[in-house]
Amino acid sequence: TQVTCRNSLKNPLWSLIEIPIISSVTCQTVTGLIFFQNDFCARILLLELKWCVLCLLLNEAELQQRSPPSMISLAGGSPNPNTFPFLSASIQVKNGRTVTFDEATMKRALQYSASNGIPELVTWMKNLQKNLHNPPTASYSPEKGQMDMCVTTGSQEGLCKVFEMLVNPGDNVLLDAPTYSGTLTALRPLGCNLINVPSDQHGMIPAALKKVLSRWDPSEVHKPDSTAPKILYTIPNGGNPTGASMTAERKKEVYELARLYDMLIIEDDPYYFLQFEKVQRWLTSSVSVPFPWAPTFLSMDVDGRIIRTDSFSKILSSGLRIGFVTGPKPLVDRVVLHIQASTMHTSSFTQLMVSQLLHSWGQEGFLQHIDRVIEFYRKQRDAMLSSADKWLKDVAEWHSPSAGMFLWMKLRGVADTQQLIVEKALEKEVLLVPGGVFMINSSDPCPYVRAAFSLSTPEQIDEAFKRLSLLIKDAL
Ligand code: PMP
Repeated sequence: TQVTCRNSLKNPLWSLIEIPIISSVTCQTVTGLIFFQNDFCARILLLELKWCVLCLLLNEAELQQRSPPSMISLAGGSPNPNTFPFLSASIQVKNGRTVTFDEATMKRALQYSASNGIPELVTWMKNLQKNLHNPPTASYSPEKGQMDMCVTTGSQEGLCKVFEMLVNPGDNVLLDAPTYSGTLTALRPLGCNLINVPSDQHGMIPAALKKVLSRWDPSEVHKPDSTAPKILYTIPNGGNPTGASMTAERKKEVYELARLYDMLIIEDDPYYFLQFEKVQRWLTSSVSVPFPWAPTFLSMDVDGRIIRTDSFSKILSSGLRIGFVTGPKPLVDRVVLHIQASTMHTSSFTQLMVSQLLHSWGQEGFLQHIDRVIEFYRKQRDAMLSSADKWLKDVAEWHSPSAGMFLWMKLRGVADTQQLIVEKALEKEVLLVPGGVFMINSSDPCPYVRAAFSLSTPEQIDEAFKRLSLLIKDAL
């Protein structure tokens, strides 16, 4: 459903604009066009009787990029990069490579860019996404243009915007608690009811989800007054804080329930690349594409109900702030519109930096890099597990995390870890996170703590657990 404006448009700039129609309105039903233009965004309001659809258009930087070279643009609010103090850059990459910004690239890197992301980065990621998840082609596929992806400023921005797009005050939202505190922080101000779906060391429990959903009749979820949840949020791999990963079987069951109740699933998967269990399997294969990792919700999505958030934070850099939203095109379009109205786009500089690196690595080089990152975190996890065995066996219990960077421990005989962790451990110079911050009701007593094995050395981890064991014994 793409329409190109021609006849009704006097200004030649507008004739370049392709309007993605967000609803199912066809171009024949459009009876009038009204233009708004501010400094940066060009938007068109399509009016047709009762229809009023705000369409996402190209931002000004994209308009300029798509214009023929003969076009003299006096429209732009983009600053002139010749006035910027930076000329060029050369960034050393480990293993001998260099990312180089010559003067022309530097000008691009310092300029506004497309709200959905730098085109070459988006294309690279779409290819990777297709190789990794290969979404089924039955009725919903990238080939048919029904799927899309955009770059976000970390996956946090993607999540936040997806929630703001989908959640209304009073909505019931399902999530596997304990869950990422950043998700709770993003959802709470939206005035929704957060409903916990119990989970264990293998993530969300489908039978528990079924039980939670049994208060609604699947045949009535489309009634206007239905309170049935429209979205389910989950961290399928290396959950934060639990380190739990869902099995493929569980994912299939959860997906079927989402179909039955017509829910969207928000698959927040920043630890996807940090899966330890399968590492041996694909380290030995000569080419690691496609991944032999656990199938994702995206990979089983036959009808466009998955919105997936990915992140480069854990594997390339958290400070670069690069994440991705992948999902049904109409929804991704709206995320892009929101980006256009808020941050305009993720930093052009960091996107180009990452794009250059990925292009010079190729997919194979990228996956080799992931191999090294996984190896690092697997050793760290093993070091933490052996220190936990050494010091905490009598006072705590845990499951070995199969992905991610966290160990989630239940302290025996400690009803609530808040005071122990926040006050006493701090006095002994050990930083841990009390489990309550990951709970929907953060004030309820919680016997859990989260320990990250990402930053400290095995020696520091050992010393920290020694101090923690003394503290727990004291408290008991
Ligand atoms: N989701 C989860 C589960 C996380 O743990 C984090 C970071 N801690 C994020 C999203 C946000 O990550 P980023 O914005 O850096 O991509």
